[in-house]
Amino acid sequence: MTKILIIGAGRGGAGMLSLVSDNKDSEVIGIADIDGNAEGLKIARKLGIPTSQDYRVFLDRRDIDLIMNLTDENKISEEIRNLKPGIEVLGGTTARFLWRIAVNHKKQQEEKTRLAENLEKSNQKLFRLMEYHKNILEHSPDMIITTDRDMKTILYFNSGAEKMLGFSSSDMVGQYVDTLYANENERESILHLLDKSGSLTNHETTLRTKDNRIIHILLTISYLKDSAGNRTGTIGISKNITRIKRLENQLKETNLELESFVYTVSHDLKAPLRAIHGFSGFLIEDYKDRLDDEGKQFLDRIKEGAGMMKALIDDLLELSRVGRAEVNFESFSSKKIVDKALSSNKFQLDEKGGRVHIESTLPEVLCDKVRMIQLFANLINNSIKYSSPDRPPIIQIACRETAGEWVFTVEDNGIGIKMEHKKKIFEIFQRLHPSEDYDGTGIGLTIIKKIVTLHSGKVWVQSEVGKGSTFFISLPKLPRKQRKRDFE
Ligand code: ADP
Repeated sequence: MTKILIIGAGRGGAGMLSLVSDNKDSEVIGIADIDGNAEGLKIARKLGIPTSQDYRVFLDRRDIDLIMNLTDENKISEEIRNLKPGIEVLGGTTARFLWRIAVNHKKQQEEKTRLAENLEKSNQKLFRLMEYHKNILEHSPDMIITTDRDMKTILYFNSGAEKMLGFSSSDMVGQYVDTLYANENERESILHLLDKSGSLTNHETTLRTKDNRIIHILLTISYLKDSAGNRTGTIGISKNITRIKRLENQLKETNLELESFVYTVSHDLKAPLRAIHGFSGFLIEDYKDRLDDEGKQFLDRIKEGAGMMKALIDDLLELSRVGRAEVNFESFSSKKIVDKALSSNKFQLDEKGGRVHIESTLPEVLCDKVRMIQLFANLINNSIKYSSPDRPPIIQIACRETAGEWVFTVEDNGIGIKMEHKKKIFEIFQRLHPSEDYDGTGIGLTIIKKIVTLHSGKVWVQSEVGKGSTFFISLPKLPRKQRKRDFE
């Protein structure tokens, strides 16, 4: 073990201190510098190595093998050589050479420490980030499942999936994801769709739970990719919509029951009503001489009321028929549909001296022809009925194409509708005008809305009181029942 005294504790001295301390064959027995705050002295104090501002205090130590004079002062080396001729003193050019090595060594040490600290910081950051992401995945109430490169073998199964399906992650990791589907071939067809479009959003499907229940889910699935863009698996995130599905089915059933109730009641009411209407007519015709004016008036009121009720029942029956009948989608010329709807309104139109402009380029649409004729006939009828008393009705029928949809417009120059009623008018029995001014039941637009809904479309109105109204009907080019999959 070589015992060394270092004189000069600046950058070189500090460097030499760490260089010698790293070396098992040598030991620094002391370090001196006139500057009591020199870097090397501070380090030495921390390491428990004796320090001094005067090197002479160490010279009497017998165990010194080597003195390194890392100051520029040659006279220090000479002084020591005189005082302690037996001790080897390194100074001058050799010391400067050692000084440079020591400084470089120190720089490298510092760089190494800096890199190690940075690495540690990055590792901690990465760890925190991983923990954060793991937390998100783990605590998501949604079911999250990832698969391996074969797109089948489950790699990750979060706690949401455990809760939804009853299987534990350890049960499922390593198993084929296909086994979870209620229909075995479902995964294959999902992969097929995924292959075509890159991702699949809100895909409705069913899974089987551990206790053999079927649950309905809304699945969003996409590929996992590495930095080169290669597919490394799939990630599927699903919501459990079983409860919503159940409610939806209950609602459908209730609606069907209600419709069938309305149908039966309306149907049964028709016969007695026909009798009231018919007999009050006979009374007016055959007994008018025997009735006084008040009696005649009462009878007129009875007949009028019965007529109104008949119209209501007819419309109610029509409304329930629209909901009950099968919808037959076929490709039809919308021009022919509008022509037919117009011909059923010809009499009323001529009576008011009105005109209808139909765009010549109306498209072919996939629809139920009978229902569509009914829809346009109702809209045209309203445009004639609610025409302004100051001018004959002018109705324009047109269509424009948007992405995936046809948007038809039926525009009139009638009395218009206050925009605050734009929703209300589509509700059953909602009328904005008294029956004395305009006869009607308040069911026509409800029937229209129902027909449009059956076609997966929408209906809305824009209007200005006194100027006219425009009814918009948007129809998807592929109605939902015709679509293979619903990618909404
Ligand atoms: P009805 O015509 O039998 O009253 P609808 O359901 O067809 O029933 O219409 C509901 C209400 O909407 C009508 O009572 C009327 O106030 C208003 N309305 C419908 N179409 C028009 C139109 N083209 N112009 C002005 N008001 C209209």
